[in-house]
Amino acid sequence: MRRQVREWIKDLLESFHPQDGDRVYNLIVEWTHDQLEIYIRITKERVTFGYGAIQWDGPHSPVPTKIDKYSLDRQELELAIDRSEMLLDYMIKTINSRKRQYRFCQFCHKKFPPEHRFDSKTCHGCASKEYFVVY
Ligand SMILES: [Zn+2]
Repeated sequence: MRRQVREWIKDLLESFHPQDGDRVYNLIVEWTHDQLEIYIRITKERVTFGYGAIQWDGPHSPVPTKIDKYSLDRQELELAIDRSEMLLDYMIKTINSRKRQYRFCQFCHKKFPPEHRFDSKTCHGCASKEYFVVY
């Protein structure tokens, strides 16, 4: 996974022009049975790292949303001795913090994110099957 992120950052830095306006770079990382959506948002002032998640606006209204996790001054990135290492560090930290939110389902034995959580040991899918919860 580290190699995938490193390659992605290399492409990002090659295509990145300091005079560009605000940009968001998205990366999908395959992990267990799921995909993690990680992003870097670069504006004139800030560099922000975070992950995509689902917010529920009611039981049948999933809304994809972006959760910011780390943010630093754009200056810090510009002044870094090794910009790609710096971005890599923050990306790995962001990925790990997203992974830590996942729990292991007692029924299907798959890991699930908090937004698909029925309780701490049961995912939505299995809650429907095992507890007859209707979503
Ligand atoms: Zn399950």
